[in-house]
Amino acid sequence: MESSIIGYSRGDASAQTFQAVNPITGKEIEVNYAMASEEEVTEACELAKKAAFLMAQFSGQKKAEFLNVLADQIDGIVENLVVTMTAETGLPEPRVRAETGRTTGQLRMFAKLVTDGNWVDARIDRAQPDRQPLPKPDLRTMLRPVGLVAVFCASNFPLAFSVAGGDSASALAAGCPVVVKAHHAHPGTALLVGNAVVDALKKCDWPEGAFSLLFGEGRTIGQALVKNQHVKAVGFTGSRSGGRALFDIANAREEPIPVFAEMSSVNPVFVLPGMETAEIDGFTAGLMGSATLGVGQFCTNPGIVFHPGGEFGEQLKSSYIEKMKSVDACPMLHSGIRNAYQKGINELKSCEGVTLEYISDENSGNEGTSHAGPCVLSACVSDFLNDPAMMEEVFGPSTLLISYDDPAQLLDVASKMEGQLTASIFGKKEDLKQQELLISHLEIIAGRILFNQFPTGVEVCSSIVHGGPYPATTDGRSTSVGTGAILRFARPVCFQGFPDEWLPEELKEANPLGINRSET
Ligand code: NAP
Repeated sequence: MESSIIGYSRGDASAQTFQAVNPITGKEIEVNYAMASEEEVTEACELAKKAAFLMAQFSGQKKAEFLNVLADQIDGIVENLVVTMTAETGLPEPRVRAETGRTTGQLRMFAKLVTDGNWVDARIDRAQPDRQPLPKPDLRTMLRPVGLVAVFCASNFPLAFSVAGGDSASALAAGCPVVVKAHHAHPGTALLVGNAVVDALKKCDWPEGAFSLLFGEGRTIGQALVKNQHVKAVGFTGSRSGGRALFDIANAREEPIPVFAEMSSVNPVFVLPGMETAEIDGFTAGLMGSATLGVGQFCTNPGIVFHPGGEFGEQLKSSYIEKMKSVDACPMLHSGIRNAYQKGINELKSCEGVTLEYISDENSGNEGTSHAGPCVLSACVSDFLNDPAMMEEVFGPSTLLISYDDPAQLLDVASKMEGQLTASIFGKKEDLKQQELLISHLEIIAGRILFNQFPTGVEVCSSIVHGGPYPATTDGRSTSVGTGAILRFARPVCFQGFPDEWLPEELKEANPLGINRSET
């Protein structure tokens, strides 16, 4: 029997339990996980509140030491992760190893960021006691941690967006404690990483409460966590309904708090009229690779493609269908996601004007497993514009091909579409001149705009934006990937008139850390 991690202790193991299910076999995995109680949620948050005061004073060096030790701990358990995560998710071993590398790479990236120290955006306005008509006070501002962050593990990134993934890494780097709610589909993976976090905290002499890991249902434990008064921000990746529910709860609190939920996006692809027939094959091969990567379970999966109609459009369609027919059905992460995928296809194909061009007959798979295969649907742009249901995310390896007659219709599409993580344009460099308006529209709706590239394979770096207006996220000013993710869990605090010895190192007159500052 396994139970939650509450600070440096383990939760009550006698509570109601659940088991993970192997999505390949459909069978339960023989480890029981005890669900946390509401009292344990409170206990974890109380411990975190105390830890938050100490952590807010940690230097960049101290935080970097911990993040690097944690990265080493996780690298050290990769063989265990391969065994547990492949069984819980059906993801192949190379993906587990790659995602482990991405996770530890993110931790080391934040370690470097806080060691450099420039991220705090220090601004200094020196006093002008003789200024007329009024003296100017000494004002010094920098980013400080917001306090306890609640993190929800993502089903589709059991490592890189789960216990020690991007949300936790950026929150801890900012100096915030985290209480993580494990995803029910991969509790064993969560526990392996959770134990690694505790080992790293102890090695680095961090206070108890900097981290807790809760098992339990979203609608009970997850909601109790977001309602807890000590929680000051939320990081989430998952469904629109789940993210929206948590956003609404956070806003209904006596003290509303920010929720950074990354939810749904169809990542439209716009093929400009300049694409030549000879380029179709390369384009459809790339599209197939992107749309079916990881059984289509990436938030940047290109779900809708707008392409010129006529002879060109027919060739593009048949080329794409041929390629999708070569893709085997594979297990999705859990039966809930597979059921949502099938429901999404059924809803899409019942829309006025939609034709089901191809669906893998393996889609139902073996009894009890989570197998799903590719699907291609098509419609024309006028029907698309008349039916908002066609703009809904179908999470899985399906593509909706939409033909247009006049490139001006692309503007109507872009102005009707909801917020997106990405939007991609395919065509010739010269054609972009005629598409200035389209690009301006896409800037309004998307977090990242790509030219002649597909949106999957999100680079983790300082200039990436993995965010976008609602419903891509609940806060379009943020990114959940890359160094910019730390800004979600920090807020500016201004020190006015303080003696130099009382100021944080970042704001002292002599600039002992040698960081970049804006000074007047
Ligand atoms: P999910 O159902 O939103 O679950 C994510 C987490 O939120 C889980 O821990 C879940 O708890 C919790 N949760 C869900 N609804 C909640 C609510 N009303 N109140 C409080 N907590 C709640 O997402 P999922 O399991 O990852 O996948 C389901 C669907 O989400 C997919 O079919 C897909 O459509 C979408 N999805 C989208 C993305 C994306 O990036 N666009 C990524 C993943 C999933 P439990 O553990 O109790 O379930």
